[in-house]
Amino acid sequence: MILIDGKKAAAELRAELKEEVAELKSKHNKVPGLTVILIGDLTPSQIYVRNKEKSANEVGLKSEVIKYPDSVEEKTVLEKIQELNSDETVSGILVQLPLPKHIDKQKVIEAIVPSKDVDGFHPMNVGNLSSGYESSIPCTPLGCYLLIKKIEPNLSGKKAVVVGRSNLNGKPMTQLLLKENCTVTITHSKTKDLKAECLEADIIVAAVGIPELVRGDWVKKDAIVIDVGINKTDNGIVGDVHFDEVSKNAKALTPVPGGVGPMTIACLLKNTIECFKRSQL
Ligand code: NAD
Repeated sequence: MILIDGKKAAAELRAELKEEVAELKSKHNKVPGLTVILIGDLTPSQIYVRNKEKSANEVGLKSEVIKYPDSVEEKTVLEKIQELNSDETVSGILVQLPLPKHIDKQKVIEAIVPSKDVDGFHPMNVGNLSSGYESSIPCTPLGCYLLIKKIEPNLSGKKAVVVGRSNLNGKPMTQLLLKENCTVTITHSKTKDLKAECLEADIIVAAVGIPELVRGDWVKKDAIVIDVGINKTDNGIVGDVHFDEVSKNAKALTPVPGGVGPMTIACLLKNTIECFKRSQL
């Protein structure tokens, strides 16, 4: 079984991006800039944002974090986004989710100009991705896609099953696999027989949030299995896939942690650079 090393893949991607940033700097005499807005003091969000800033600095991006207290008014955040939208030194804007209840998430997402939407959540980018046009692609599914392509460069005709239909993961993942000419089944909490669906799959992407949902006897021999889940349990962090059981059947499997997670941040940097390049055309 191939253990898909997300840490290594992410380090390789960051090294490529670092070279690209250096080339862009010598060509344009400026570097792509990422601005992250962090609202409140949720510990996981603070850790994510710190890691994003560290990785952005590592590849040579200009990075900035704007912090607001939990009590910040929605209007203040929307005005700041407008200011960043017209700031030429800012290539990408990300508002760290989740947001406090009094702030409308959709309003915030839609306030970011689509050309700087490095998360790929703006309806314009969602539509462009589903129409097969150029767009920012949500970072986690993009990371999954790059890991799958490392194992199997030609996905045409493969049967893929995506478990979970969130806007963040399942739906964009489905679009990426469709673009590669996979036959894709998207499954969710109302799917009648999830095991039977998974047993058909050459590729399984699990993004559910249920610890070890996908079992060893759900997976066809030689399937590629990508585990997006991050679940805190009494036994530590586990994915949505039962690692020990599935590793006996699968051709390739991502561990949790150390699989999809590290690729997510690397893909955010990639998206920032892509936004910068499109802005220079
Ligand atoms: P979500 O809660 O938004 O969506 C979960 C999806 O799973 C829903 O579409 C739901 O229909 C489906 N589902 C629920 N129960 C099911 C069942 N029994 N069978 C089949 N489908 C079922 O979750 P999300 O935001 O997509 O996140 C999923 C997991 O991925 C979580 O564990 C989250 O922490 C993790 N995550 C990881 C990363 C990363 O970088 N690795 C990034 C984002 C999310």
